[in-house]
Amino acid sequence: MFNELKEYAKKNNVPIIKDDSLDVLLSLIKDNNVKSILELGTAIGYSSLSMASLNIPITTIERNEIMYNEAIKNITKYGFSDLVEVVFMDALEYTPNKSYDLIFIDAAKAQNIKFVERFTPFLNKGGLIVIDNINFHGLKSTDTGISKNLRSMLKKIEAFKEYIMNNPLFDTYFLNVGDGLSISRLK
Ligand code: SAH
Ligand code: MG
Repeated sequence: MFNELKEYAKKNNVPIIKDDSLDVLLSLIKDNNVKSILELGTAIGYSSLSMASLNIPITTIERNEIMYNEAIKNITKYGFSDLVEVVFMDALEYTPNKSYDLIFIDAAKAQNIKFVERFTPFLNKGGLIVIDNINFHGLKSTDTGISKNLRSMLKKIEAFKEYIMNNPLFDTYFLNVGDGLSISRLK
């Protein structure tokens, strides 16, 4: 579904979720009877629309105006405006007015600890936090020949994995699909 959006993403280098990760995400939603979703990082609305296709309402946050406009355009075009609410804001400034069954975090990769800390109070008990791109193309902060910026980001992703694995509020596991998924259940 949404092949047109996939094509657009490829052409314009928009990093949308990989097929196998999306399959896992959709299965988690079905198997856990998820009824409400918060997403951080909308981009062009591809993952939002894919999840909303299961007939589940989503609030999704995007801080980039070009992406936000593109997402609104796509969500309107496919007729999902009633199910998908796009908020134009930095996710670290957003305060939800309800709690969710699933939070999908797919925004700035260096901020994942902050996102989890900020949004855990808005996750229902037994709810899931799923985070994309925790493998970051298989790169490691100890690799040679990478830029300082990239090394710093890889360190942050590695620190995040430590943090979430050792967070006593959650049961967490990592899946080696797509670009790596972290899946945490609030105890
Ligand atoms: N979830 C999308 C892809 C998102 S790409 C999909 O799979 O289809 C990551 C997006 O997160 C980018 O559009 C970027 O602008 C946005 N983003 C990064 N940090 C953010 C933040 N702090 N708040 C809101 N959006 C953010
Ligand atoms: Mg992603």
